[in-house]
Amino acid sequence: NPGSETREFSAEVGRLLDLVVHSLYSEREIFLRELVANAADATDRRRFEALTDGARALPENAKISINPDRDARLLMISDDGAGMSRDELVNNLGTIARSGTRAFGQQLEDAKPEDRPSLIGQFGVGFYAAFMVADKVDVVSRRAGSDEAWRWSSDGKGSYTLEPATRETAGTDITLHIKSDADEFLDPWRLQAIIRKWSDHIAWPVTILRDGQEEAANDGTALWRKPRSEVTEEQLEEFYRHLTHNFDKPWDTLHWRAEGTMEFSALLFIPSTRPLEFAEQVRESKLRLHVRRMFITDDAEILPSWLRFVQGVVDTEDLPLNVSREMLQATPVLARIRKAVTSKVLNELKTRSKDMETYTPFWENFGPVLKEGMWDDPVYRTEVAALSRFHSSAVDGLTSLDEYITRIKPEQDSIYYVTGESAEILAASPQIEGFKARGIEVLLLADPVDSFWPERLGTYEGKKLCNVAHGLNDLEKFGILDETPAQKADMDVLLPALKTALGESVSDVRATDRLVSSAMVLSAPEGGPDMQLLRMMQRSGH
Ligand code: ADP
Ligand code: MG
Repeated sequence: NPGSETREFSAEVGRLLDLVVHSLYSEREIFLRELVANAADATDRRRFEALTDGARALPENAKISINPDRDARLLMISDDGAGMSRDELVNNLGTIARSGTRAFGQQLEDAKPEDRPSLIGQFGVGFYAAFMVADKVDVVSRRAGSDEAWRWSSDGKGSYTLEPATRETAGTDITLHIKSDADEFLDPWRLQAIIRKWSDHIAWPVTILRDGQEEAANDGTALWRKPRSEVTEEQLEEFYRHLTHNFDKPWDTLHWRAEGTMEFSALLFIPSTRPLEFAEQVRESKLRLHVRRMFITDDAEILPSWLRFVQGVVDTEDLPLNVSREMLQATPVLARIRKAVTSKVLNELKTRSKDMETYTPFWENFGPVLKEGMWDDPVYRTEVAALSRFHSSAVDGLTSLDEYITRIKPEQDSIYYVTGESAEILAASPQIEGFKARGIEVLLLADPVDSFWPERLGTYEGKKLCNVAHGLNDLEKFGILDETPAQKADMDVLLPALKTALGESVSDVRATDRLVSSAMVLSAPEGGPDMQLLRMMQRSGH
């Protein structure tokens, strides 16, 4: 054909396809879940694009239709979504663009062959799942706003072809040439059951062609709008994975409905593992905002950035469907929702923090992010401090500021801390010898953010946060450690000698009561920058 071109899959796609096709699948029905999810995502995307570009407006009756043809052994899944341009077909279906899928491909490769089918069933492999049931897949797509259409075809064996095509309207048709052992997926009733099981919550109408009639296949009540009692654990977990592309179970699920002065439903998750992409992720909350089920944006920053590990959906009645970005910025509705959602999450963390056995893994995953709130956020600073946990010179495991205060000495009005590379190193640091010798507890802070927040927080429950490395901590009031007159006399000779020897490289040399067995310690000037921060700045060339 003129304009037709054959291309190789990227090596990663090739390997993934090989694994998918050659795993003995117990749950290959999940291919439909993946394709319908993609169709729904594409429809959301088009709706959103249409807000700024009228040429991309969705047809009024936008839907996802499933059309089995038993005689031709074809199954077609069509949508009115954003479609894909030629370049998008190449990038989205010929390579693995998302690092989450790439990581999952690796996990799949590493798994024992007998474990692979259940892995694929649980997590899905996106579009490529189609090749579990089809020996050939055709994708005809027309990008919304363009009048070109393209056909992408592949037998999933190393290459695909691209050629010009025609399509009346924007959107995508995915046609599966069903394998000879996969007849069941040409049966409308079987397809209906799969949709009920996996895709019932999809907010767009899904229809199945049966005896020449289009039958509604999904309930369409978005999961988050249903009362908690009508939603199963399994549905929640499936939704979580679809939403987050994570492979774990949520550490926590918050599902509630606010009624009264404002109306919204929310379904939020906290992952139980730190997502692979988390480090490189934008420093912003990506909570999805819906208005009456319709996806609006994930840029509304419903939660502060220090709660960006929380994922999920907030769906409100109180905004118009055609709300624009500018209006979102200005509306007091969003400010109220932000406040309510933030409080809910903090309250939940407060409850969960009472059980350290289950709170500790959460803290290890997301504590460093949560602690940013003490630096960033004057409103919630103290609440975040109460939720924070620390290593300490006095206890094994983690402790809170409140617990620290219960152990404080009667004459002690500070919470002492030291910053550095790791809690283990800090525990043995000369910086805290004098404190330990006097039975004074020191928090051992080893996250980069720890160089920043203590000064911002300033005090907690009336106790000043005090960096032990900062100059003269007045330790004498906690007891004088024995010193012989001979030692005192030695000091009078030693200090001036050291001062002369070190010259310009130090600002002062002093005797200190902070040391017990070490000979000397480097100290930052009182009120100057944190030592760990100075070290980090030096390393980055400042
Ligand atoms: P994921 O959905 O997790 O991104 P998939 O493998 O399921 O991964 O899909 C890859 C990409 O292909 C999608 O991100 C999307 O950009 C594109 N895509 C797939 N199906 C469609 C569709 N029906 N309409 C538009 N784009 C699609
Ligand atoms: Mg997908």
